[in-house]
Amino acid sequence: MMTKAIDTERFRTYADSFEGQLVLPDAEGYDAARKVWNGLIDRRPALIARCANADDVVRSVRFARENNLLVSVRGGGHHVAGYAVCDEGMMIDMSAMRTVTVDPGARIARVQAGALWADVDAAAQAHGLATPGGEVSLTGVAGLTLGGGVGYMRRKYGLSCDNLLAVEIVTADGQWRRASERENSDLFWALRGGGGNFGIVTVFEFRLYPVGPQVVTLNPIYPFDQSRSVLETWRRFAETAPEEASTSFGIWGIPEHPDIPAELHGTPVCLLDGMFIGPVEQGETLFQPLRDVGEPILDLGGPTTYLEAQQGFDEFMQDGDLYYWKSLYLDQLSNEAVDTMMSWVKRRPNPRLLVIIRHLGGAVSRVAESATAYQNRKAQFMFSIDGAWSDPAESERNIAWVRGFWEAMNRYSNGGVYVNFPGFGENPQHLWQSSYGNNYRKLVAVKTKYDPTNFFRMNQNIKPVAQTGN
Ligand SMILES: Cc1cc2nc3c(=O)[nH]c(=O)nc-3n(C[C@H](O)[C@H](O)[C@H](O)COP(=O)(O)OP(=O)(O)OC[C@H]3O[C@@H](n4cnc5c(N)ncnc54)[C@H](O)[C@@H]3O)c2cc1C
Repeated sequence: MMTKAIDTERFRTYADSFEGQLVLPDAEGYDAARKVWNGLIDRRPALIARCANADDVVRSVRFARENNLLVSVRGGGHHVAGYAVCDEGMMIDMSAMRTVTVDPGARIARVQAGALWADVDAAAQAHGLATPGGEVSLTGVAGLTLGGGVGYMRRKYGLSCDNLLAVEIVTADGQWRRASERENSDLFWALRGGGGNFGIVTVFEFRLYPVGPQVVTLNPIYPFDQSRSVLETWRRFAETAPEEASTSFGIWGIPEHPDIPAELHGTPVCLLDGMFIGPVEQGETLFQPLRDVGEPILDLGGPTTYLEAQQGFDEFMQDGDLYYWKSLYLDQLSNEAVDTMMSWVKRRPNPRLLVIIRHLGGAVSRVAESATAYQNRKAQFMFSIDGAWSDPAESERNIAWVRGFWEAMNRYSNGGVYVNFPGFGENPQHLWQSSYGNNYRKLVAVKTKYDPTNFFRMNQNIKPVAQTGN
């Protein structure tokens, strides 16, 4: 028997019908299977159910219900709060379900929910197509899309969740359903931004667009002491930037990488990052002034393939390092906000901490805030503080600094976080309520309808009515 709570007979019946792999704590591979991207997370589920297909997901949900087990759901395992893995309960792991099927005529991709963005990019680009994903191709499609999805095509084609046509999902009652504008439309509304609260998605269907194969990337890296002039140039650029360009400003330390000269590793820098999806010459001309603000230490941008551009950051966010990321939205980049930011970054505890300001607007802001669960569509900028370090003895200091910086910047924001960059989701009731704003009540209603007992709660948790007392 795995734990006292699980009935042996029921477990045998479940295990006999399960087509994927069940990993128990004494099995070889258990430690690898329970690991997620953030090395701060060290949880030990009683059972890991690596599903092979949607029937396995149905069986697993029913088994967990019958045995009253806490459930976590793993997509790509990249959420900074480590929601994908729980202590003692059951981790339903989608990572073996990664098939992507593209219908080039209809321009639709059917994506199994354990896929990474690299899987989607490769399958779609084989037909000259793409859909908006994230900025690191090793991130899971599932968590990123369910929380919104902010990538290099956001201003032209919107968030990842804006390009969902339908999902297939197993809800808390163990039923398989489809959700789209026409079927279970309330559920479909909630899944576009509301996270993993409503069930286990088995398939996402995305709209595709002709993209590439050539795109133009923006990646000049300047000395840290030029931060203000680079930021000022970028801020002016953002005011009139075409929607083909989605760009960001960042402050960082040059990472250790074999392609970068060793003497530069750890150098404090500011940088610009972005992509232009349109005629290559037009993109080069547009980005040139941003590459000429001063004398870059390195300039990694220029024409490249969409696939390479999507993988540009993959090696800099290593699995198993220690992370604490927190975000907020800004309607504008005021001088006061910039002053506050600069005073904090000068005191950062280590150069690997990345501060990144993403320009939003464009297609993201053209969708009404009530049209999907994702909020904060009018904000012009997303501000994210990405703490990263390797020594556990440094954790407290780094986390305290990110929290202090986030609180100091909060006075320039309308409140709330991007639910995919929420730290550990501290003070959850207040955090999710302020993050979902006017959409929160409807999210509670949909949660109450599809998951009245809060069976799915290892996530940006929206409590059903019975539990909030609303
Ligand atoms: C290196 C890195 C780069 C990133 N870059 C970006 C970026 O550019 N843009 C952006 O928007 N975000 C970005 N993110 C944040 C990212 O969106 C979140 O970390 C997201 O949760 C990742 O999804 P996942 O499937 O890998 O996560 P997981 O940790 O597996 O899951 C996250 C949440 O989703 C739930 N979930 C997972 N699979 C399912 C499913 N099949 N059905 C229902 N619920 C499910 C989980 O239970 C959990 O609550 C980045 C994160 C990292 C670590």
